[in-house]
Amino acid sequence: MKNISIPELVNILKKNNINRFYLIFNPETKKVEPSHKELQFLADFINSDTRDFEEHEGMFFQLTEKYDVLQGAFVHRTKRGQAAGGVRFWQYDNLEDYLRDGMRLAKGMTHKNALAGLWWGGGKGVMVHNPKYDKQNKEYRKYVYTEYGKFLTKLNGCYVTAEDVGTSVEDMANIYKTTRFTTCIPESIGGSGNPSEPTSRGVLAAMEAALAFKGETLNGKIVAVQGMGHVAEPLIGHLFNKNVGKVIAADINSDVVNSVKKKFAGKNLKAGVTKKTDNSILFEECDILAPCATGAILNINTIPKIKAKIICGAANNQLEDHDRDDKALADRGIIYVPDFLNNRMGIVNCANEQYGYVNNDDFIERHLQRKWNHGVYQTTLSVLKEATETGQPTSKVAIIQATKLSMQEHPVFGHRSLKIIQSLVNDDRFIS
Ligand code: NAD
Repeated sequence: MKNISIPELVNILKKNNINRFYLIFNPETKKVEPSHKELQFLADFINSDTRDFEEHEGMFFQLTEKYDVLQGAFVHRTKRGQAAGGVRFWQYDNLEDYLRDGMRLAKGMTHKNALAGLWWGGGKGVMVHNPKYDKQNKEYRKYVYTEYGKFLTKLNGCYVTAEDVGTSVEDMANIYKTTRFTTCIPESIGGSGNPSEPTSRGVLAAMEAALAFKGETLNGKIVAVQGMGHVAEPLIGHLFNKNVGKVIAADINSDVVNSVKKKFAGKNLKAGVTKKTDNSILFEECDILAPCATGAILNINTIPKIKAKIICGAANNQLEDHDRDDKALADRGIIYVPDFLNNRMGIVNCANEQYGYVNNDDFIERHLQRKWNHGVYQTTLSVLKEATETGQPTSKVAIIQATKLSMQEHPVFGHRSLKIIQSLVNDDRFIS
């Protein structure tokens, strides 16, 4: 599949007059089946994959009439509720990378949502940017996101989208124009607003749990933070409030560095501008390392040089190779708090927007408090305890716990989204 490019798939679709199609998992045959026989090759690829495919309930696609943008909704598991996860607008070299990314990210959302005790399943939207056009062009984006909303409407609610990296408030507003099946809508029309501050508190709660597991506290600790953006800035403030000894931080953007330095003037903050390829912040002499910039920074090159005994930060997908790097960290005796455990507050904040808002909302705050079983603090403790008892790496343990939770059915609606998927397949409305 690596040898098939996205434009080649677009040609196949156009030649066969296909503008919407799906790949559905048949639980009886345990095989994925395509909506069109001409697309059997896609199902064959997925059926032969054991890395990213895990009985995903359904994958749905459309090709936009203008601009030839391939849009997808990858629905992994919906026992806990509608598949929820953000939509990204990305460029892919080939079809295999696209399908793998969609399947992997959807599975990740099942884990994140279930571990957080949310009554949502896991899914992800992935749209392929057409490099013939300027990605920032307003008309292009407006069209792409509005069409994505129409596509979600066609899906009848088995997948509910949200914001993802690179998605703006305006993009979400455009989706909302054509579907109700989105969260993270702008605050001005009833959305929940930027979740970065609660996300920073989630990271803080996980750090405190990891330290408590060792019988320690944040008092006097040295914390190194990669990235000084929307999550890192409030995180640094919370760390000083907890009397850490020092924060060392780095960002590639000098304006960001200067503004954070100004905000924490008088505090023991050592902050500097760094280059994108310079990961030396990861190797600082410190107690806790908090990656809050980009993913894949924990890998065979970086792990051997890390001095921190705890890694806990908001950046998504920190492990470059999940199994290899999870184990490498455990082998070095470093406590790694999985990102999908501690950075959940983004999805927590917007997942239940339709239920309205109350001050100090318990449905939000309980994730950040110490007592709730599914809260960040208790979940971190439970994962670290099980990892110690079983000798398994932390991320693996968190996935095992999340998978178990993802098998529980919604207390009111049961496995309704599977019925939605079956309805989409049984009548031809989606593809017609
Ligand atoms: P942000 O864009 O506001 O901040 C990221 C910062 O990292 C930027 O200031 C950027 O200049 C800097 N950066 C990029 N590459 C760098 C590098 N190589 N070295 C040092 N700095 C670098 O993003 P954010 O909202 O603060 O999110 C941070 C991370 O957490 C992202 O990976 C994001 O996907 C993840 N996350 C965020 C939320 C949220 O609520 N904002 C929720 C879940 C996960």
